[in-house]
Formats: sequence, structure tokens, C-alpha cells
Amino acid sequence: MQVVADLQIHSKYSRAVSKNMVVPEIARWAAKKGIGLVATGDWMHAIWFRELVSQLEETSEGLYKVKSEYVSSDFIVSEPLFLLSAEISSIYTQGGKQRRVHTLVFAPDFSTAEKIKQELTKRGCNLSSDGRPIVGLSARDVAEIALTVSERCLVIPAHAWTPWFSLYGSKSGFDSIEECFGDFADSIFAIETGLSSDPAMNWRIKELEKRAVVSFSDAHSGPKLGREATVFQFRHQPSAISHQPFTYDDVYWAIAERFLGKNEGNLEIASTIEFYPEEGKYHYTGHRNCGVVQTPRETRKRGTACHVCGKPLTVGVMHRVEELSRNSKIEPVKKKSKGGVMGYYHPTDDTRPPYVMVVPLLEILSEVYSAGVGTKTVLNEYEKLISHFDSEFAILLKVTLNDLDRFGGGRLAEAIGKVREGLISIHPGYDGEFGVVKIWEEGDEEEEEQMTLF
Ligand SMILES: [Zn+2]
Ligand SMILES: [Zn+2]
Repeated sequence: MQVVADLQIHSKYSRAVSKNMVVPEIARWAAKKGIGLVATGDWMHAIWFRELVSQLEETSEGLYKVKSEYVSSDFIVSEPLFLLSAEISSIYTQGGKQRRVHTLVFAPDFSTAEKIKQELTKRGCNLSSDGRPIVGLSARDVAEIALTVSERCLVIPAHAWTPWFSLYGSKSGFDSIEECFGDFADSIFAIETGLSSDPAMNWRIKELEKRAVVSFSDAHSGPKLGREATVFQFRHQPSAISHQPFTYDDVYWAIAERFLGKNEGNLEIASTIEFYPEEGKYHYTGHRNCGVVQTPRETRKRGTACHVCGKPLTVGVMHRVEELSRNSKIEPVKKKSKGGVMGYYHPTDDTRPPYVMVVPLLEILSEVYSAGVGTKTVLNEYEKLISHFDSEFAILLKVTLNDLDRFGGGRLAEAIGKVREGLISIHPGYDGEFGVVKIWEEGDEEEEEQMTLF
């Protein structure tokens, strides 16, 4: 038995987030996606915290579900559980450089979360400025505060590679966990990879060898939930009578296991579900205004100044990984599952969870119907498929291509088959510009048309 978890999202109280990111809507979208465990996001924010307290009820230690009166009326196929996860933005100076690091803090229950909020406030943090508060404390100090209140908190660097706001960021990050978290480095059990990197890139980093690599969506709206996710599986079959078969501590141990060398819980990380890293906004190096994009090889040759305007380029995640890794590229071993989904495995270390790569269904449908992601055609088809097949992850990863063909048409089945096998092309993202996925390269269609003409 497995649980798909998305443990980084934001509420409507964070900047640039959809007004619909409220508890019932988050639960509804989690169910549509096939997510069984979702972040509350933003618990440091006073109003959101009150909404969480009043709209959620505890089902097992540290995990919550939506109270029945808040369940949105149209449907909930399965009830997702919530875990208290928030993100905090540290902006500070260290070693003569300005640093900006985003950190996730998971709390084991509301009273721990409340105490952490109090401590942060005592240290002068304004937690109500935004759902993801900006504080002058270092990432190390945030870790100290959370872990002093409770050792059961988890502190995880968020989207660890993005240039501007992360642990390893090329613009304002650090070269190592040690340098960033100092004496608290040994309390950092995992990093979150962000959209622009995949596990194989992270496997190259020495200090990550003993740490878990997790993936979450950082969704700012319902449809973006589960863009990336971490799949947990039970180590022992939970008893048939247990109503909620796992707790916060099971999640804690699954994430801490690799670093601590033991697991006292009943979950472990089975795999991660990844965005194609090329589709992320910072995969390559570049300058968006000038349309300049460079691969790591080109960057080594041409340097990091824009060859059009001379300004510094935004050094992308791929180049940054090259800079910080000592070993050469790790080529994952590809193995196809029975359902035709390509899995990517570590070539020598079988304790590393494998991963699969997906393209969001709305994007696939947009290509199938040659219509925008937000158009009626695409949205209607999306709803139709979800209500028939239960969830987006079922459609992307489980439903047979025959069934997809029968219900959604041959073009959809072909598209999903291609995505499952990785037979797509992507123009990589750079300097804040998302990459563009192409399931059918231009030319394919013309060819098809010509074929039918003849
Ligand atoms: Zn962030
Ligand atoms: Zn430029």
C-alpha cells in the first residue's frame, strides 16, 4: 500500500497564490490528483493557522482531515490527510554576502507549531506579513528554534537549487549544508529538489549521499498540486482495523531513515514523482530579456555574463550541480514497469528510491486538443477523465493504454504512452522561463496529415 504525499504548498495568504487555496479546495484538488497526504502550507500565518485549527480535525497523531462541514459539496473520492508544513524565507548576511534561503518546517502538532510561532515572534519576526514569512533570521537559527521547541520537527531546505532563494542557489545560497546550517547540519535529513532538478542530479552531491531526496509541488493553485510528489509505502501491512494506518511520526522516520540509519516508523520512501527537470524555470543558465540560453558546456566556454547585454546571467540548476558535484554525471538505469512507465534507478545504490517523470495531465490534454491549458475543451476533458478514472496519478501512471484509448481516444492514449516512456522533447527553462514540453514535435503532425492524404 502506498501514499502519495505533496508536502509543500501555499495558502491564499502567500503572495502570488490563488484565492482558492483554502482548506476545502486544497482537499478537493488533492483528491483529484490522487494525493493522500498534503501539506497545510503556511501554518506560521496567524489567520491561516486559525482556519486550520477550526476546519481540520486530528485523525491520528499529527495528521488531520477536513471536518465534514467543510468538505466541499461536489465530491471527495478519498479524504486526503493534512500535515503541518510551512515555508519560511530567511534573508540575511553571512560571510559578507547576502543570503536568501527558503526552508520547510514540519511540525508534529498544532501546539508545537504555536510554540514555534511564539519563539519566532519573540525574535522579532513578523509572521503576518505573508503566508511564507520573510525573516531576518538565518536558516540555521530557524532550524535551532524549531528543533529546540521539538526534536520531532523536520527542517528541509526547499527547492534546494533555485538560483535566488535556496540552500545551493547560485545567486544567494551556499556551497554546502554545513556552511548554511552550521552546528545544525546534522539535523537536516533531506532536501527538496525543486522543479528544475531531478534525483539523479542530486545523487552526484557528496553530502546528499546520506540524505533523502524528496519532491513536492510548491503549488500556488489547486491544479498545480502534485506537479512533484513523494510516494511513501508501508513497511508492514497496517492492521485491517486501524482507521488511519499512519501518523506524523511514520512520515518523520521515512524521511529521517537514511541519515539516522534506522526507522522506527511504518513508512518508507518508495519513489518520487518528478517534473521533467528541463521543464523547470531554472534548468539552464540564461538571460530572459535577451533570450540568451546556455547549457553547462556553453557556460563553461562563454562564461556567466550575457553576451548580448553584458549583465550577469542567472546561473541555472544544471550548471550549479556541475559546480558542486565531485563525481561525473550519474546515468540512471531505466526500467519499464508492466504498465509501460519508465522508472529511473540509481545504477549502484539500491537503497536510493527510484523515480518516474510525468507531465501534468492538463498540459498533455492541451497538446492532444491543440488548445490552451485553461480552455473549456481542455478543462472539460480533464474533469471527465478524472471522474471516470478516479485521479490524475491513476491516469498518468496506472490506467492501461487500452482503457485510455477506449474512454479518452487514441490521441490521448498515444500521448500518455509517450510521456510514460519519456519519448517527448523539451525546450529547457531558464532565468524564470518555464521549459516547454512537446509530445509531438512539429512536423510529426504534418507528416501524419500527408500520410492520410496519400
Ligand atoms: Zn520557496
Ligand atoms: Zn542580456
